[in-house]
Amino acid sequence: MKLVFATQNQNKVKEVQLLLPENIHVLSLQDIGCLEEIPEIADSLEGNAILKANFVTARYGYDCFADDTGLLVDALNGAPGVLSARYAGNENNSEANMNKLLNALLHHSNRKAHFKTVIALNLNGAQYVFEGKAQGEITSEKRGNHGFGYDPIFKPDGFEETFAELPIAIKNGISHRAKAIKKLLLFLNEMS
Ligand code: IMP
Repeated sequence: MKLVFATQNQNKVKEVQLLLPENIHVLSLQDIGCLEEIPEIADSLEGNAILKANFVTARYGYDCFADDTGLLVDALNGAPGVLSARYAGNENNSEANMNKLLNALLHHSNRKAHFKTVIALNLNGAQYVFEGKAQGEITSEKRGNHGFGYDPIFKPDGFEETFAELPIAIKNGISHRAKAIKKLLLFLNEMS
């Protein structure tokens, strides 16, 4: 069975392929000749994941899964959420995004937040959605240099370190993305 992962990131594809049985062959967008930018214009993470998976299935005819991730801060009513990549402007500028978030929380004592990853899967004419969350809080300053995005200001529950201070392998064991992918893999392994 051929299954497209709606990403241009070949490393993500390899990582998932290694966790699946050999009869499921994971392809990247590049592998199917899809080099165009897929619009992410929905107003929710779930909506964007579905939009991307549906784009590939409708245009290229493949079964497909797609993901979308955001950081949701309680005191900001779930912002930046679906706008996490563009919180401080149009380009995905992590430094500017983190500075804006730290400023927005300056006078808030409730710093609870969570990362959420949603994966939409189109398979054999049906659609399935999987979700993973990592609960934690926003620190008052940036700490650490591993990872990416908001990692330096997110401290997961149960740890003193931020995601950016933890070894990558630890983050990858407890992250929102890891949890969502685990649910997808369990499902696909049961189906095959
Ligand atoms: P995407 O859906 O993976 O493109 O992520 C959307 C936004 O959330 C981007 O600004 C990323 O930098 C940020 N983001 C996604 N996953 C993580 C993470 O694991 N740690 C920190 N930031 C993340």
